[in-house]
Amino acid sequence: MSSDPRTVQNFGRNVSFVPQQVYQPQSEDEVLRILAEHRASRVRVVGRLHSYSEAACCEEVMLDLRHLNSVRIEQRENGVGPTIGAGCQVKRVVLFLLFDRSCIQPGVLVMHDLLCLYRERNCDPGFWAEPINACTNASFVLAALAAWSLASLRRALTESSCVLIALAASIGVGSFLFHTCANHSTMWLDIIPISLFQIAFLWLAGRYMVQLPTAATLGLIVVVIGLSFAAMPFHKPLNGSLFYLPPLLAIAGLGLTVWLQRGPEPFLLPLAATVFAIAILARSIDWKVPFPCGTHFLWHLLNGLVLYLSMRAWILHQAVRAAFTESRF
Ligand SMILES: Cc1cc2nc3c(=O)[nH]c(=O)nc-3n(C[C@H](O)[C@H](O)[C@H](O)COP(=O)(O)OP(=O)(O)OC[C@H]3O[C@@H](n4cnc5c(N)ncnc54)[C@H](O)[C@@H]3O)c2cc1C
Repeated sequence: MSSDPRTVQNFGRNVSFVPQQVYQPQSEDEVLRILAEHRASRVRVVGRLHSYSEAACCEEVMLDLRHLNSVRIEQRENGVGPTIGAGCQVKRVVLFLLFDRSCIQPGVLVMHDLLCLYRERNCDPGFWAEPINACTNASFVLAALAAWSLASLRRALTESSCVLIALAASIGVGSFLFHTCANHSTMWLDIIPISLFQIAFLWLAGRYMVQLPTAATLGLIVVVIGLSFAAMPFHKPLNGSLFYLPPLLAIAGLGLTVWLQRGPEPFLLPLAATVFAIAILARSIDWKVPFPCGTHFLWHLLNGLVLYLSMRAWILHQAVRAAFTESRF
């Protein structure tokens, strides 16, 4: 066997060859660019190199199409049909077709899309298909630990603070599960803690920090959560991030009110709203950027900060109230 590190071997190890150039294009555009660049060379496409014959051997340019593995079910003029990437394996197509039990509406989220939500996963059903997205969920757990430490320090480890801290940590756990075992069950394990955190925080900030009447606070929660879930099935525009626009508007509005009321560190909620807006942008452009890990990990990192700022605002509010109550007795 050749000791040349560029040596390519087939699956059965009975055939090996040394191409001058090897490419693993990420998109059809990249394939076209490579073909244009090597128009004078002999170009050979390979799939998984499972052929035992010398069919895949090439000495000049080898195009490995493993990344062109998407399966999309599309609405066409004459009905619904699949478009399958040139490097897609049959097992992946079977997997997608098994998942796809519904009539597909273009732009509406369905089961097969769960594997294709994030650029880093790129429709791969594997557990570690999103290592960066999975690991950056640690930011939520770190935010919870930092909030816990602050609440202990300020003697504001109240039930409400503990609820927020526990929900922040569970967001990290739920999101980690969804970014490793992407299915409908883990999708809900991701969404439910986020929604519960939003409900708890809107109640605490609306009712106690901004001092809205009970009915108005409940109304705000119903509108925000209702609009979020109404927007949830729509993958476009914003790459599924429409879900987060109602809470962004709510936190911006509450933040502005707290700012005007000049509570402790009044910049916290406006800052949280600003960081949240940047995080939504990062979530929305996941498929637009030219690097394969996408930008969803930034959504996690920035949201860890948003959760910490929100919890800090509540903990400081609690601490000031406790100090005020103590000073009266
Ligand atoms: C364990 C095992 C079991 C197998 N069982 C069977 C079997 O039951 N029945 C059977 O028929 N075969 C079987 N095969 C053979 C295998 O299915 C074929 O060799 C098949 O072509 C391998 O596909 P590949 O994507 O790995 O192609 P490669 O080996 O990578 O390439 C084979 C040829 O196809 C071309 N090619 C690959 N992808 C493309 C593309 N996207 N566009 C244009 N050309 C392309 C290549 O240039 C090359 O000429 C088996 C192989 C293995 C290893």
